[in-house]
Amino acid sequence: MHADPNQPSAQPTYDPVARRVRTFGATVFAEFTALANATGAVNLGQGFPNFAAPDFVKEAAQAAIAADLNQYARSAGHPRLVNALAQVYSPLFGRALDPMQEIVVTVGATEGIFATVQALVNPGDEVILIEPFYDSYPASVIMAGGTPVYVPLRGPMYSTSAAEWVLDMDELAAAVTPRTKLIMLNTPLNPLGKVYSRGELEALAAFVQAHNLIVLSDEVYEWMVYPPAGHVRIATLPGMWERTVTLGSAGKTFSVTGWKIGWAIAPPRLAHAVLMAHQWIPFAVGTPLQEAVAVALEQAEERRYFDWLGATYWAKRNRLLGVLQDVGLTPIVPDGSYFIIFDTSTLDVPVPAGTRRDVAVCRWLTGEIGVAAIPPSPFYSGPHQHLTDQMARFTFCKTDDMLEEAAQRLKKIRG
Ligand code: PMP
Ligand code: GLN
Repeated sequence: MHADPNQPSAQPTYDPVARRVRTFGATVFAEFTALANATGAVNLGQGFPNFAAPDFVKEAAQAAIAADLNQYARSAGHPRLVNALAQVYSPLFGRALDPMQEIVVTVGATEGIFATVQALVNPGDEVILIEPFYDSYPASVIMAGGTPVYVPLRGPMYSTSAAEWVLDMDELAAAVTPRTKLIMLNTPLNPLGKVYSRGELEALAAFVQAHNLIVLSDEVYEWMVYPPAGHVRIATLPGMWERTVTLGSAGKTFSVTGWKIGWAIAPPRLAHAVLMAHQWIPFAVGTPLQEAVAVALEQAEERRYFDWLGATYWAKRNRLLGVLQDVGLTPIVPDGSYFIIFDTSTLDVPVPAGTRRDVAVCRWLTGEIGVAAIPPSPFYSGPHQHLTDQMARFTFCKTDDMLEEAAQRLKKIRG
């Protein structure tokens, strides 16, 4: 049957999808959580805590709803929350943060990343992404019309420590052009668990200043750092406050990833630019949950909450490291974050044509062993994805019972 030229066609006669999203697929986390749910696997894939959030945090949210804090918040952030953030972070940044001009509350760190890139990157600008990178970085750069430029961390073939993975400063220098505007840093690093040392950050700071760049420093795992490593904020190094946007997340800090509350901390000029983008993205973030995070931050120090969180994750990390070692999956010991990358080269897994080995191995771990993992190749650009062929990522932000169940199932690997 021929279409009647006098009738409007039901479908557009051109591809209505904008080029900026045409190449995007579902995230690796969506794929593997769906697979874990469908197969009944223990989900050590997607990084979300499966344990209860602290009572004092949940009670604060209940009270905020009861108090009828139900209308739009101030676009840059609910005043009680930006004040609480300034209280917590001023000592950590070594300066009196101005809550009204130097902090923007975002819809999780994900929107912090997106809004910062929208605020700072012009079409045609280049943005340096250090591999492995969090998967939303290149997407945010592409949606701003920027060009991602990739520089991988380099590590030994048989690595047992995240600290062995380092930036080659010559490789980094070779990636810079007159169009380079921004470099995205993530410490502690998802998925490797690397915590950049002060020396490494000083070298990076000198490089950033020499090339007149800005840093987006994603520090969402700031409280999950395992001694003797220590978290250093690049914004606190000489000359770096003026050049850095630092991001944090209540999702990680208070085990409430579904609340989607994050923040950007930056000097007034950069914070204002982030706000100018943010005001047109969500406009504002949910008021009662901002109030709850404010209350949680106000109480955190007195409750020694951050120490408790770090110690809890340190014990879980050590437990999962032991499980991996027992079954011959050599881990790269992380100094931070709630992830462990491990070596899968001892696993004999069929790899279908057209599938990356790390993806095939993670599907096999999920479907055959019953423990979901995340393949790290989506944290790399195409030409560098082979670097992760023998790697997979587990998370340990799970109850001890769940880690124990995973340990039992993984014994099948040892035979
Ligand atoms: N950055 C990194 C490195 C992450 O791992 C995550 C967690 N998914 C985010 C940003 C996003 O944080 P949020 O859940 O607060 O949006
Ligand atoms: N950041 C989480 C992880 O790396 C997942 C977040 C998401 O699903 N977008 O596992």
